[in-house]
Amino acid sequence: MPWCEPCDRFWNPASVTEAGECPTCGTPVDTPVEIPPNMDSAARQKVPWHFWVAITAAGIYLAWRAIQGIGLLF
Ligand SMILES: [Zn+2]
Repeated sequence: MPWCEPCDRFWNPASVTEAGECPTCGTPVDTPVEIPPNMDSAARQKVPWHFWVAITAAGIYLAWRAIQGIGLLF
């Protein structure tokens, strides 16, 4: 939510001017509206290392079970 310090109030993103200024006092207001998508995409792109450890462990386990399963056929 855009926040205006001088007016001490929140503004609806649709209420601020196109330049991102407070409609009452004209102060540029904080518009964190553009930040969440960036953070979201950054969070999506950066995968924690333990995710790959888990994927690798699961892959090794499934490969081992597949080898066992094939071994039972003969
Ligand atoms: Zn204001």
